[in-house]
Amino acid sequence: TSPVESPDFYQLDDLLTAEHKLVRSAVRDFVRREICPIVEDYAQRAEFPVHLVQKFGQIGAFGPTIPTEYGGGGLDQISYGLMTQEIERGDSGCRSCVSVQSSLVMYPIWAFGSEEQRQKFLPRLATGELLGCFGLTEPNHGSNPGGMESNFIERSDYYLLNGSKLWITNAPIADIAIVWAKNDQGKIRALLVERGMEGFSTPEIHNKWSLRASTTGELVFQDVKVPKENMLPDAFGLKSALKCLDQARYGISWGALGAAMECYEVARRYALERIQFSKPIASFQLVQKKLAEMLTDITQAQLLCWRLGMLKNEDRATTAQISLAKRNNVEMALRIAREARQILGGMGITGEFPVMRHLMNLESVSTYEGTHDIHLLILGADITGIPAYK
Ligand code: FAD
Repeated sequence: TSPVESPDFYQLDDLLTAEHKLVRSAVRDFVRREICPIVEDYAQRAEFPVHLVQKFGQIGAFGPTIPTEYGGGGLDQISYGLMTQEIERGDSGCRSCVSVQSSLVMYPIWAFGSEEQRQKFLPRLATGELLGCFGLTEPNHGSNPGGMESNFIERSDYYLLNGSKLWITNAPIADIAIVWAKNDQGKIRALLVERGMEGFSTPEIHNKWSLRASTTGELVFQDVKVPKENMLPDAFGLKSALKCLDQARYGISWGALGAAMECYEVARRYALERIQFSKPIASFQLVQKKLAEMLTDITQAQLLCWRLGMLKNEDRATTAQISLAKRNNVEMALRIAREARQILGGMGITGEFPVMRHLMNLESVSTYEGTHDIHLLILGADITGIPAYK
């Protein structure tokens, strides 16, 4: 197989270490071998390739930044970003599974969990023996999760949990769920809910036109008795949930780049091969304009990701900086996927090429982890000091 083509117009590879490049090429090879040949069929059937969970564990895609003593990879933030980039080059749904496990399940257990919780869950999450999900969004509270209705009451040796969560990635097959709910004083805490607990169910959401190779569901809690040792002791309030989202949104910024690079390369190759009016369509100025703008967008997004990763390595990246990157890069990827689909003409709407699948997937990526407009308002609040979303 030929090497994956990947635009690097500003020679950004010079900014990467040997370890970064090693991680990237290992994940890229894995995606080429294990995801690209099968994912279109799974997406057409609206099925998650569940066998990939173990394989993601084997290549170290779960918890790459978690310390090695807990089974994580002990890698830096750039390595994590490059991993999500390569996985989303294959499919945004597969990347969603990995983002949730790493940033929304392993990260909160590592950051807010007790030592016993870390040792009990993190190594098994790292290998893929356990799969997790993250329950924040509710049917009546999406962009405003602080309004959540899920709640628990303290009993002698357990918490009694009631409520529901909607749009939860991995939910139908997850072994554990990090669930954000209010105590009887209305304070938000995080509970680790395990499959098999009585009153806990995870119905699947069907009929999605986007992220079809990812499984999405509800979390329903009817008088679930959650043992007291399953509360994350150091997670307090929405700010703890938002810290998890910062991790995931950072990975999404890189992931969207992967989808964009794939669409760009497919369109570039197609434009050089497709003959109309006795010439390759790449010879027409309008097609060149599309390709030139795609490359410009990708190059800008690559620089953004790299700098954000370096700031994150120093623990200096702010929520607003992460919002800017998530919003910019997903919008950029959507634009590129749409233009690539145009370049492919009729072929662009088929599963013969990955472009339409990326385009449909990115519609969800633009909505989840904070919508495009909510990220704009987070930036607006950062600029003016006035939150307009409240
Ligand atoms: P709403 O909040 O109802 O928003 C609808 C529209 O109103 C949007 O355009 C929004 O921008 C706009 N809007 C809302 N408030 C304002 C405002 N103040 N000012 C201007 N515009 C506003 N959640 C989880 O907790 N865990 C998951 O694993 C997870 N996975 C998901 C997977 C998929 C495939 C999808 C689609 C969603 C997932 N989500 C998950 C939920 C996701 O985070 C929410 O869909 C998202 O936060 C938006 O919430 P909502 O859908 O309720 O839309």
